[in-house]
Amino acid sequence: LLTPRFALPVALLCASALAAVTVAARQSAPVAASRQNPALIEDLVYANRILANQGVVDGFGHVSVRDDKNPSHFLMSSSMAPALVTTKDILEYDLEGAPIDAAGRAVYLERFIHAAIYRARPDVKAIVHSHSPAVIPFGVTGTILRPVFHMGAFLGEGAPIFEIRDAVSGPTDMLISDNKLGDALAHALGGHAVILLRGHGSTAVGNSIQQVVFRAFYTEVNAKLQAEAMAVGKVNFLTPEEAAKASKNLDTLAARPWELWKAQIGKIK
Ligand code: MN
Repeated sequence: LLTPRFALPVALLCASALAAVTVAARQSAPVAASRQNPALIEDLVYANRILANQGVVDGFGHVSVRDDKNPSHFLMSSSMAPALVTTKDILEYDLEGAPIDAAGRAVYLERFIHAAIYRARPDVKAIVHSHSPAVIPFGVTGTILRPVFHMGAFLGEGAPIFEIRDAVSGPTDMLISDNKLGDALAHALGGHAVILLRGHGSTAVGNSIQQVVFRAFYTEVNAKLQAEAMAVGKVNFLTPEEAAKASKNLDTLAARPWELWKAQIGKIK
């Protein structure tokens, strides 16, 4: 703690240092990286680490956030396993999915999932794409993923399924590897919170990093529970009305698991 004797000189020192920085910033050309919000980047790194820790992503999968300083850009790591992402790995992309300055680093093949959804959905601020295992059966059987409990309420009347065979003629490698496929996926998502990709995985959207991590995690949990419930007997799902009410409630609770999951990770680089 500063004693009053030291507080004034330190304050003056800080003020002059700030002035020097301001002058330096005015003299140099604007740099893209300097506009990014360090708190947002830190949350994005935590999101990568939490999703890996919770088994939503493994070596694959990615999470992005719309740039709060420039809504026509988004932030996402370079191509790497989410568990290994640090603040230095975060790149900025435009809404066509092009990196602003990758500096030689590889970028995710499926970055068009993110670009296309941000283009189509101004309300979406963060996106998770994963291949989390319990969700896969619901993409390939015609059994709709629906909320079996209140924590899955954001699934509403059920998650839509993206059929890549309807988007292009002829066989594909199953990946969303260009903007045309991205647009088709965003169209199929519509106003939903989660979409399943047949034979591939799922994508969750949210109005914040906290909300989308919550949704990606509980999509996997709901899928596991729904499969178990269906094996036990006839399932009594949340009605769409119950889901809508419960979903509103969840939006006020996303911060609680987030703080727990962050604490389990500890300090990040
Ligand atoms: Mn994928």
